[in-house]
Amino acid sequence: MNKITIRSGSEGPSHDPYHFTEITFEGRFGTIKHHAGLATWTEWKGKLVREQHARDCFFGVVGFMPEEIEKFYYRMKQRRFLNHVKRCGRKNIESAPGYPGETLTYCKKCGDVLDCDFNRSAVE
Ligand SMILES: [Zn+2]
Repeated sequence: MNKITIRSGSEGPSHDPYHFTEITFEGRFGTIKHHAGLATWTEWKGKLVREQHARDCFFGVVGFMPEEIEKFYYRMKQRRFLNHVKRCGRKNIESAPGYPGETLTYCKKCGDVLDCDFNRSAVE
């Protein structure tokens, strides 16, 4: 079973912040992490592959480019959301702050958490 987690936020000096996206993909090959921002790197099995080789490494392991995984992830999330709306009704779906920097989207009717957005720049 594959699991994808995406975090985004900003990094770098506060006067010149840089947007980053970090994809964590857990699959049969283990856990691989791709970070694209001020620096680009891929971490897999304790190895850190930097800059221009980072994307190749990710592609070599996962079989897709980081952007494709990102697209799958958002499509999947949207589908899950729409299915839930069909089941419980849109008026029951609400957003609430969770832990610092987190926003939870949940259903009032059945209590399911549909989405959890983590924004690190809201914490730091
Ligand atoms: Zn529900």
